[in-house]
This record gives sequence, C-alpha cells and structure tokens, in this order.
Amino acid sequence: MQVPFFTFRDFPTGLQDQIESALVKESRRNQFILGTAVTKFEHSFSEYLGGTEVVGVGNGYDALSISLRALGVGPGDEVVVPSNGYIATINAVQQVGATPVFAEPEAQTFNITAATVLPVISARTKAILPIHLYGQPCQMKELLTLCTDKGLELVEDFAQAHGARYKGQTVGTFGKINATSFYPTKNLGALGDGGAVTTFDPQLANWVRQYHNYGQSEKYQYAMAGINSRLDSVQAEVLSVKLQHLNSLNQERQRLAQVYLQTLRGVGDLLLPVIPEPDMEHVYHLFVIRTHFRDALQQYLKEQGISTLVHYPVPPHLQPAYQNLGHQKGSFPVAEELAKTSLSLPLFPGMTEQEQQFVIEQINAFFEKV
Ligand SMILES: *Cc1c(COP(=O)(O)O)cnc(C)c1O
Repeated sequence: MQVPFFTFRDFPTGLQDQIESALVKESRRNQFILGTAVTKFEHSFSEYLGGTEVVGVGNGYDALSISLRALGVGPGDEVVVPSNGYIATINAVQQVGATPVFAEPEAQTFNITAATVLPVISARTKAILPIHLYGQPCQMKELLTLCTDKGLELVEDFAQAHGARYKGQTVGTFGKINATSFYPTKNLGALGDGGAVTTFDPQLANWVRQYHNYGQSEKYQYAMAGINSRLDSVQAEVLSVKLQHLNSLNQERQRLAQVYLQTLRGVGDLLLPVIPEPDMEHVYHLFVIRTHFRDALQQYLKEQGISTLVHYPVPPHLQPAYQNLGHQKGSFPVAEELAKTSLSLPLFPGMTEQEQQFVIEQINAFFEKV
C-alpha cells in the first residue's frame, strides 16, 4: 500500500466543487487586485479570529517581516526566535536588519517557553517571536507576562496553527501584531502563496495596509516608501471557501492524531506529542514523533510505501546561511537532538482508516525487529 505524506483530496465532500466554482466566479469578476474577494476574506478571517484586524499579504515571510517593521524593529535590535524553528521566521528577522537570538524549545512540546526565553533576553531585545510549531499553541500566559515585565513586544508566527486555541483564545490574537501563511499545505492553505498580518491595534493595521501596497494612503498618494505584497484575489476566494471548513478539517486532524496517540503509546522508544496544559487545543499541522531509530524507521517505512518527512533535519544555527551568527554544533543541544530524532508521520484530512492502520502496523513491525 502507498501512503502519501500529504495529499489534497475531495474532503469534506464537495470542497473541490466549491473551490472550482469560487475560481470561476473570481475569473469573471474583473477586479484582479485588492478587490471584493480580498476584503471579504479579511472580514471572515477576522470574524473567525474574534475581531482582530486582518491584512492579507503575499506570503508568510512577508507577513513576518512586515509585522516586525510595523513595530519599528530594525538594526541594533534583537528578536528572540526558536532554535528549532522554520527558516522563514529567522530570515524575516534578518531581513529587517535585526539580529535573531535563539531560545531553546522544550523537547516535549517543541515550543519555546518563558523559562527558555528568559536567559537569552538582553538590553537589546525588542521582541519575542514564538512559533506555534506543528499546530501546538505555545504556553502564552507566561510568555505574555514575561513580555510585560521586560517591556518587550510579542509577535506570533501562527503559520502552522490556524484555529489552534490556548485557553479558548485563538492563536494569532495574543501578540501585538502577528503573522501567518496560507502556503498550500498549511491547515488553512490556498492554491498558491498567501499570508496575513493580524492585530487589534488599528494604527498598526493602518500602517500595514499602506506599507504592503506601495505605501499608498489614497489613490496616487504615498505616505511612505512601501512594498508590493498583496494577497492575490484568486487565492482569497479559495481561502474564503476553505475557511468555512477549517474547524471540521482541524477536527479531522485531531481525530487522526488521537488514533496515533492511542495506538503508538509504548511502542519501541517512541515519544509522542505532549500537550502540556489543560485547555490547549493542538491542530496537528504535523504529527511529529521522536525516536533514536529515526533514520532506520524512516527508511523502513519508505520501503513499505509510506512517506514521512523530517521537520527539520538541520536547525537554523547550523545552516550555512547563519554562520555569521557565530554558533556551532553543541550551541543549542535541544534543537540539535530534536533535529536528529523527529519524524513527521502522514496525517491529512481525508486519510483513510486503512491507510492509518497500515502506518501503525508497519511502525509496530519495525520495532519488533530492532
Ligand atoms: C510556512 C511557514 C512560514 C512561511 O510561509 P510562506 O508563506 O511560505 O512564506 C513561516 N513560518 C512558519 C512557522 C511556517 O510554517
């Protein structure tokens, strides 16, 4: 049996038809840039998030760098980021001229916490930029308290966690200004690039609205030298359709995750995802297990026709791109350990019971042999 890591299927029933009719509608609308489709999506996503302002932008990376710029983060400032994060987050910090400073995640949750951030705060720290990695919310209460105590800004990267909740509040609404991506494989994914900035601060929202569209304040009036990073209208129309299914798609991910959690507990040396507090809702963008037999397990599953991925095999501080920061092997042992032991299993809405049972059987078979 072949089990893909991820695939788009017609799930829930009729979604594909709804997307196709949205595309036809948009192709006949004759608006193309920043029209009705974008405004409509911004409003519905705002409603979904609980009333925050939403500005659609070109992609998640732009959403991050624009958010940092909106706060005035720039050269001489330090921004705390996870040492195990996705590279885009760190690139965005570098792009605005600030210095990324790594905080270790907690191995159990893959996320940074107030306890791991505190030791790396300096007089130059301007902001903390946590990622709700793999769909699991960070422990926001302590992070927010830390920011208040130290006078720091909080910017969330919620690209992997659309719809995840911490104590009933949706991620993407905790920080002063926050960034997300609608990259196709994300929980809320477009059919191409897309992203958004969210904030409760109308002044910041206004700044972003001008900045992302060449700095335009009124037609042919430019308040600042802005950039071009706009959410595409066609993608916005697709996102409006998919947003209506986001909760049910997330529930499907959660149901599949529960099956893995119940059946893989105690198998071999596997460490399964841990939710550290009650009242936290993980949306399982990825289902990441840990094992010291990672490479052998991945190879074995591949031979059985099961695709898995490693998120991420090389931590940012060991990437050639970040040698300028002066870190080396051993600088961030938790991130390095996670990079060596993590494996993402197939999990996607529409995955069949047969497929999932096959994955579970083969993992069991592997550990019976080692
Ligand atoms: C996908 C992702 C991004 C970047 O999104 P793009 O739209 O590809 O630029 C940023 N941060 C995290 C955590 C992501 O998963």
